[in-house]
Amino acid sequence: MRILVAEDNPLNQKIISTFLGRNNHDVIMAKDGLEAVELFQQYEFDCILMDLHMPNMDGFQATEAIRSIQKGMKIPIIAVTASSPLEDKSNCIGAGMNDFIQKPVQYIDIEFILQRVESGYYTIN
Ligand SMILES: [Mg+2]
Repeated sequence: MRILVAEDNPLNQKIISTFLGRNNHDVIMAKDGLEAVELFQQYEFDCILMDLHMPNMDGFQATEAIRSIQKGMKIPIIAVTASSPLEDKSNCIGAGMNDFIQKPVQYIDIEFILQRVESGYYTIN
């Protein structure tokens, strides 16, 4: 799959890229929400992994922007959050995200989410 990753932290960028590379996914990295929105408009992606806290434009704002510009089938957007998922869950869903992964990011969690993406779980529900 082709995956857009919006993440400002270089270490997290590297970890996520490494995990995705294990299964030969195509990764395009955005350093903030603004760049993520621009890349979303330029290329086709199968899903987006979205850090919540980024400079210039955060994950909530970027998700809202993407949801407002896209037409047709909705791309799965997965929040990547360092805070409690329960705390962020309603905000994530409210902004238009489909699911979330807790930091520090674990390979097994990414795999679980990507299997859901591939099975159409987020586009059916
Ligand atoms: Mg961040």
